[in-house]
Amino acid sequence: MERYYWIETYGCQMNKAESNALVQEMTELGWRQASSPKEAEIIILNTCSVRGTAEMRIRGRIGYYKSLKRTHPHTLVLMGCMAERLKERLKEEEPAVDLVVGTFQKGAFLSFLRNPCRDRIPHIPLQENAAYQFAEGHYLDGEFKAFIPIMHGCNNFCSYCIVPYVRGREVSRSPEEIFRELNKLQDRGVQEITLIGQNVNSYLYEGPDGRMDFPSLLREIIHRYPDIPWIRFLTSHPKDLSDEVIDCLATYSQLCKSLHLPVQHGSNRILRLMNRKYDRDFYLRLVERLRNRVPSIALTTDILIGFPTETEEDFQATLELMKAVRFDDAFTYYYNPREGTEAYKYPDDVPLEVKLERLKVVIDLQRRIGREKKTQRIGSRIKVLVEEMSKMKSTELLCRTERDEMVIVPGPSEWIGTFREVELLSLKGNTFWGKDTGWEHS
Ligand code: SF4
Repeated sequence: MERYYWIETYGCQMNKAESNALVQEMTELGWRQASSPKEAEIIILNTCSVRGTAEMRIRGRIGYYKSLKRTHPHTLVLMGCMAERLKERLKEEEPAVDLVVGTFQKGAFLSFLRNPCRDRIPHIPLQENAAYQFAEGHYLDGEFKAFIPIMHGCNNFCSYCIVPYVRGREVSRSPEEIFRELNKLQDRGVQEITLIGQNVNSYLYEGPDGRMDFPSLLREIIHRYPDIPWIRFLTSHPKDLSDEVIDCLATYSQLCKSLHLPVQHGSNRILRLMNRKYDRDFYLRLVERLRNRVPSIALTTDILIGFPTETEEDFQATLELMKAVRFDDAFTYYYNPREGTEAYKYPDDVPLEVKLERLKVVIDLQRRIGREKKTQRIGSRIKVLVEEMSKMKSTELLCRTERDEMVIVPGPSEWIGTFREVELLSLKGNTFWGKDTGWEHS
């Protein structure tokens, strides 16, 4: 008899990759994806804990599944960062949750899946600092883009961030495991891979077969997988982005000229309180070195507004830094205390209205800069990867450039998963509109 599951994934690419791996493992164990939660014997929520709003949303989903249980009994499983953060407290607060699976308990969960029984839901102890096990198969059949974890966890302890507490210390995946996944992806004709981890630049594998750091891993991947056209990596901590990695970006055409380099703030005082381990000048010099070596690089960032004690002067320093760097895009957000972090001990003393006002100024500035930079490129011809049909119109395609920008182009669905050349015609919001030039890139 076939057994059915339903999975929902929240948060970052790491969660999505881990859900993909779990789906592969469940498929091998004979499980099938249900067409709706009502048909599922097991419902899995792979959760995010980075912001309070993410947890609120998941609590809403738990409420929904609690009421669904009355008519459609199922086993409700919570895994991922929220499960790790709240542990057994979660089952007390949300009795509808049957099983809490933390970051390090996925193996025990798979054992349960081999022989699940609603009357015998196991207690899986949530030990801290158990060894993180990388799964295999972080991609789904038919996908032409894949996210491959190369490291896990973080040692940086930025004072506002929950990640080191829920994901644990850094562990680098063995190159052989990474190559095994990439072998399969190259054979399947995958067009783009993104090497992911909380801080990929500090990748360092030391094992029986030797030692490999991040630039050596990049060079080895470029050398071994010439048939994967686009390679990206995410996320980079500024303090760990070495000249050797910049050199790789400058040297290898397979490496996309796009880099996410979170700065978080422009004030040295706030950067210190955030425990970011660099200052404003360091960041600006790094950007200068990067742009000197890779002039075409698209640079995106994260900016966190309203950190405790942020003054108007600190805020102005952030605006000045944004004007100096001229990021191509930025993920902007305002500070929300996360229980368990160092910053949780500080008074959250910037009033919400001030946070929202400052955030609006940051968003408006970034929109203006992004728009100015993009407008200059209208009229140019550019290679894009066709990703999917546009949600707005069935005759249009959503494509992405090497710089990770969106372009809408009229065209047939047969182009999905291929590279095309397009001419950029106009800009609406953050999205280019273009036309295909008839040139198919290999
Ligand atoms: S580098 Fe800082 S912000 Fe990023 S995951 Fe680690 S602790 Fe969190």
